[in-house]
Amino acid sequence: MSTRPRVGILGAGQLALMLAQAAQHLDVDVLCAGRPGDCAAQAAPIIAVDLESPEEVRAFHDAVDVLTIESENVETSVLADLPHLAPQAQAVRIAQDRLFEKDFLRFNGVATAPYAEVNSLRDLHAALASIGAPSILKTRRLGYDGRGQVRLTHTDEASSAWAHTGGAPCILEAMVNFDLELSLIAARNTQGQIAFYPLTHNIHRAGILRTSIAPYVDPVLQSLAEKHMRTVLEKLNYVGVLAIEFFVSERTLIANEMAPRVHNSGHWTIEGAATSQFENALRAMLGMTLGSTRSQPTVMLNCIGTMPPESDTAPFANLHRHDYGKQPRAGRKVGHLTFPATETAAIALWQERLEILS
Ligand code: ATP
Ligand code: MG
Repeated sequence: MSTRPRVGILGAGQLALMLAQAAQHLDVDVLCAGRPGDCAAQAAPIIAVDLESPEEVRAFHDAVDVLTIESENVETSVLADLPHLAPQAQAVRIAQDRLFEKDFLRFNGVATAPYAEVNSLRDLHAALASIGAPSILKTRRLGYDGRGQVRLTHTDEASSAWAHTGGAPCILEAMVNFDLELSLIAARNTQGQIAFYPLTHNIHRAGILRTSIAPYVDPVLQSLAEKHMRTVLEKLNYVGVLAIEFFVSERTLIANEMAPRVHNSGHWTIEGAATSQFENALRAMLGMTLGSTRSQPTVMLNCIGTMPPESDTAPFANLHRHDYGKQPRAGRKVGHLTFPATETAAIALWQERLEILS
């Protein structure tokens, strides 16, 4: 009988794929709940599980040593009372809802932009009276890559903004005039050991992450971000990898959101850190000692819409190409490229090329 640990993932997209690839080095088996053509099929068996059926999710859970998620957008009712779930349902419930998330962060001493709950046009008018414009109306749930968000430049845009959200429960959030965006990724294992990665500098365009540069060296912000991260991890008794996105304004950190999983801004760790976020996520869940997060300066560029032809990337010896095997589609993350940060000319060239392809 095999003694290899088995990790089940609810989802089979690119995050599951990279977790499954990391599992291969660790002598861990990964099974993914998804459909046959999903990205993770390149590296792991795919099993059909109805993610809305508590019975099917329970049966999948019972067949593995640890069950995890690849997206926070799962029905948390199916996660209730699963003993071998990492992270726990409570963390997912908070991170999947922008209102719960901001309430939780504030309650724990982590600054956020001013925000207000909005369930009607009337609420939106009231929120605009206190928060003002520019501001952003965001659906509480199911947003990613800037979807489910409307920017208001004037308070008289309330009706059109509200119509745009289709009446979904929202929050109105003040626009932060930030200097830059950073994220912190950390892993916490079942014994409470925590490993922090260095801060990553993230550059977005049209609400989508384009470029991540790590490490962002700023000892003051690093220790402040780690303090916030430790608070969040310990309050939730969190197990797995957690990412927190921050805005930096006037040398202080304002939390934007958190992700209860491996994160796009940590993809550079595959080549740039001694232990990737994917390996540390598996180690954390399986109660293994966390690996070193010692890092080399690294840049990750997202491929949005389509991958560049292989013949174009092949001549760059220090370029690492990650193709998720997805069909091209406008606005879709289909892969990423990673470079040592010293390759400045190649990075500039590829930033421009990827811009044209997206
Ligand atoms: P992702 O899935 O990429 O994390 P998302 O859809 O969850 O995105 P957010 O992270 O809330 O959405 O927003 C995406 C980007 O939009 C942010 O990284 C930031 O660049 C910008 N943004 C969001 N909220 C604000 C704000 N309050 N002030 C200024 N910019 C903002
Ligand atoms: Mg975000």
